[in-house]
Amino acid sequence: MGAGVRENQGLADSPIFGSEHEMLRATVRRFVEQRVLPNADAWEEAGFVPREILREMGKLGLLGIRFGRNWGGSELDTLATVVLAEEMGRSTYGGFAITVLVHTDMAAPHLQHAGSPAQLERYMPDIVAGRKIAAVAMTEADAGSDLASMRTTARLEGGQWVLEGSKLFITNGVHGDVYFVAAKTGAPGRNRDISMFIVDRGTPGLRVARPMKKHGWLSSDTAELVFDNCRIPRDSLLGEENRGFHALVRNLQNERIVLGAQAMGEAQRAIELTLDWVRQRRAFGATLWDLQAIRQALARRAAQVAACRALIHQTAWRDARGQRVDKEVSMIKALAGTLVNETIYDCLQFHGGMGLIRETAIERMARDARVQAIGGGATEVMLEEVAKRMDGG
Ligand SMILES: Cc1cc2nc3c(=O)[nH]c(=O)nc-3n(C[C@H](O)[C@H](O)[C@H](O)COP(=O)(O)OP(=O)(O)OC[C@H]3O[C@@H](n4cnc5c(N)ncnc54)[C@H](O)[C@@H]3O)c2cc1C
Repeated sequence: MGAGVRENQGLADSPIFGSEHEMLRATVRRFVEQRVLPNADAWEEAGFVPREILREMGKLGLLGIRFGRNWGGSELDTLATVVLAEEMGRSTYGGFAITVLVHTDMAAPHLQHAGSPAQLERYMPDIVAGRKIAAVAMTEADAGSDLASMRTTARLEGGQWVLEGSKLFITNGVHGDVYFVAAKTGAPGRNRDISMFIVDRGTPGLRVARPMKKHGWLSSDTAELVFDNCRIPRDSLLGEENRGFHALVRNLQNERIVLGAQAMGEAQRAIELTLDWVRQRRAFGATLWDLQAIRQALARRAAQVAACRALIHQTAWRDARGQRVDKEVSMIKALAGTLVNETIYDCLQFHGGMGLIRETAIERMARDARVQAIGGGATEVMLEEVAKRMDGG
């Protein structure tokens, strides 16, 4: 094991983490070592993470770290979420990581923030325990970056909501149990009159049209969902009618911090794995680490990753104190989504031919990293968000 690896095992590598965060990090890291690393190649083959793994995580309290104690959660803060996301990223299995993080931090927050007491009572304990897996369905074939152009509609008819339309690229869409679905509920042309709905798996009129085969994140299941005269009870409306766009924007903030933290966990681990490799791999009578070009390239990436992590930690700390961090969140998503790709590109390069061989961690990590510059807000869209706020917006 290289010196750099030992160095990075210091768990509290930022002074703003407390003992509760250190304990959480140690728990997640142990779980990844014992339950994920020995099994996740099989999940990559199968295309999904088995339910018992998610239930085990629920038992350890890892699926409810931000949610109320009355639902089985632990009411920790944004920094705890960052710890979970970094450690998920460090697992080197992006598909496993996103399965968990969509459930905990991209889908379930819709319920946490907008759920009625009855809705919370009905779903939250199962979500926190991992008995029900959650998905969030925003994107459509013609509405990704520009969510306001979505076409799925919901109308009230005979005391029920009727959903019509389809959603694309929905993580946990194949194996999930509960979907938080965005649909237009306003008059034609009122693009931001969007509402959120809770739709249970198996509801008549909801069809998983196709599990989608992907470039990376292979152990994460991704679906196209079709709503065809899908009738759900009136009380399935989540939050206020026509206020769903604000809910999407609000929850995307958390999603983007989480995706940034996951990406930096991946980048950090990729550097460690590469350090181990170049310190033992020999060429021209010395190790690759003895080549200045290689060790400086890794040093540069290590510095960039440390800087990006520091921004993430500081932003999470501020978010936990209720401060506005919109600009910083967009910076994080843009920066981390690009940096993880650049870092892993270098790491794969220094693995030589081995970096191209399936089943090496770095080969999988390179495929998994690509989506980080697209999903949850493409880099260019995030940079526009930053620019708007630099210009007094
Ligand atoms: C594996 C995977 C999992 C996903 N999981 C989910 C999920 O669970 N739920 C969900 O709702 N969605 C999910 N998504 C959707 C994801 O968030 C979208 O793919 C993403 O927001 C981009 O939308 P798009 O694919 O429609 O790209 P488009 O909006 O068509 O954009 C294409 C490209 O154009 C460029 N671009 C777009 N807008 C601008 C701009 N303003 N300025 C400059 N350039 C621009 C960017 O480079 C962008 O990548 C997932 C996607 C993937 C690939």
